[in-house]
Amino acid sequence: MSKIAIDFKTGQIKNTAQLVVGIDLGTTNSLIARINDGRAEIIKDFQNKPLFIPSVINVGHDGVITVGHEAIQKLITDPESTVYSIKRLMGKSLQDFSDRKEFFGYHFDESASEGLIRIRLNDRYYTPVELSSYILRHLVQEAEKALGVKIEDAVITVPAYFNDEQRQATRDAGKIAGLNVLRIVNEPTAASLAYGLGQNKTEALNIAVYDLGGGTFDVSILRIEDGVFDVLATRGDTNLGGDDFDREIIKFWKEKYQLYPENPIEQSELFFKARAAKHELSDSNNFSTTWNHHILSLSNEEYKTLSQPYIDRTLDCFRLALSDSGLHIHDIDELLLVGGSTRMPIVFDALQSFYGKTPNRSLHPDEAVALGAAIQADILAGNRKDFLLLDVNPLSLGIETLGGIMDVIIPRNSKIPIQQAREYTTSRDGQKNLKIAIYQGERDLVENNKLLAEFILEDIPPMPAGIPKIQVRFMIDADGILTVKAIEQRTQTEQSITIKSQFNISAAEVASMLQESIRFAKSDQEKKALIDSINEGKYLQLASEKFLKNNHQYLTSLQRSEISNLITYLKDALDSKIRDHIELAIEALNKYTAPIAHKALDRNIADALRNKNISEAINNETKKDG
Ligand code: ADP
Ligand code: MG
Repeated sequence: MSKIAIDFKTGQIKNTAQLVVGIDLGTTNSLIARINDGRAEIIKDFQNKPLFIPSVINVGHDGVITVGHEAIQKLITDPESTVYSIKRLMGKSLQDFSDRKEFFGYHFDESASEGLIRIRLNDRYYTPVELSSYILRHLVQEAEKALGVKIEDAVITVPAYFNDEQRQATRDAGKIAGLNVLRIVNEPTAASLAYGLGQNKTEALNIAVYDLGGGTFDVSILRIEDGVFDVLATRGDTNLGGDDFDREIIKFWKEKYQLYPENPIEQSELFFKARAAKHELSDSNNFSTTWNHHILSLSNEEYKTLSQPYIDRTLDCFRLALSDSGLHIHDIDELLLVGGSTRMPIVFDALQSFYGKTPNRSLHPDEAVALGAAIQADILAGNRKDFLLLDVNPLSLGIETLGGIMDVIIPRNSKIPIQQAREYTTSRDGQKNLKIAIYQGERDLVENNKLLAEFILEDIPPMPAGIPKIQVRFMIDADGILTVKAIEQRTQTEQSITIKSQFNISAAEVASMLQESIRFAKSDQEKKALIDSINEGKYLQLASEKFLKNNHQYLTSLQRSEISNLITYLKDALDSKIRDHIELAIEALNKYTAPIAHKALDRNIADALRNKNISEAINNETKKDG
């Protein structure tokens, strides 16, 4: 039995042996990781430094784009053409930011207040998707240079609260960067994977992931059971993060020392001083520096006072997330701290007292998400056959049956891996081939669903319609690979096909297919009911015609003409394609023929017994002759 891997999105046959990466496309920092010798690691650049870059992009006056560390310098020298926190703008319109525009040093396209945000850099407008793609491309190019291999497939992470537009925007950014985005993965799920949680399939765990990054805060409650990660609840604040602490420090200094930065450069310098203070206070009690001939200082106590209200807000979110999830803090088996800002002792202490146990911060908090993304990528690439399963089947999978009806074999939201089989039969006498067309979607008619693949089961031994038993088995393994097998039970003739990346479907696609299925539910059901009636009617017509022919001598002429009339009546009804007519005709024919057929059946059994004897005799003679 040969297997082929098809990427159903592109229809191309796929080679699975290649480097796949995980990318944490962060608000503040972005990282790229891979699996090396079975372990997840941040990829090192050609200078052997981890590929951990600020999510900052500068577009020069010459149109040259710089990204990361180089671009961060431009925040001072060229702030108007330097973009940061682009992730906050993904999938958003200008209206969403009307009250916070002043926090961005760059300019927006004010004419596009209705549609998606665009950013003006020099004389051109850029979308957040485009700008994010520059970050992704930079990471990938640096990784390719360092490793000397081509990178095509990637998993990219997003916050659990990202909506469809934001996920789609992230996916698009990956596409523009030339990547094949294997999956968009929730950051808390990735963090849990990095911590090795969920790898033991037998344990069930409740995990809380507290992620305080640069621009955003979120806390997610996950349930891991049988290797499936369920996000039970997620709460957060897209405008709460390390940037707020920086701003509070700047505000504090401005008031205390009466500072008046006069231009963007001075402002940016002050910002860098504030950030330096924040970082240093994670390890020491005092900080001081100079700015424009002022000596600026900040003590840990002062900083605590500045940051406490924000920490309190994160704890409020945490309480809400717990209550959403129906769990109590004591039910949480593991509290993971993720995001650079969780390096702050005040955060750690606040969580330790809230949790009553020690939160887990054993991985670098700013690396965990990228490492987990790499693990997820590795699983999706099929490199971990024995590994956990991760997801559910997002849309129903099934095959086309007579009349174009979608017959669901694995319903949506089934946990994978899963196997499900159903028996089918032929619709014509002596039918030798059976087409198995595999579809994905929620609509009742296959024409509205997505065709994934099709194949033909050949060499079915000739039998009357309805007699062959053909088992169609759908199997989705832990890597999300679907194999469909059809077996004719008597001869064990079998045929199969494997479809890779069957979860490559985006959240937006899933959502729109579900919406459609709801919108069309009524008309779909009506169409399906009509097709069911037609199928039943046609079957009855054929069976009755056969019955009439085979039992000609046993029927009275009245019975024969009545059956013929009823068959004609049924044929007309079938031609009318009106369901009520067809149903009536089926009923009439059934009602009339059922008692006669019953008697005929007894006679056929008697004949069959006689036939058996005859054929044995013939066989004996043949033997003698041979
Ligand atoms: P994001 O997920 O938003 O990209 P990260 O997880 O990389 O962000 O976190 C970035 C934030 O972490 C920044 O605000 C940065 O100032 C902060 N940060 C990094 N290191 C420290 C530290 N040692 N102490 C306090 N904050 C830190
Ligand atoms: Mg992050």
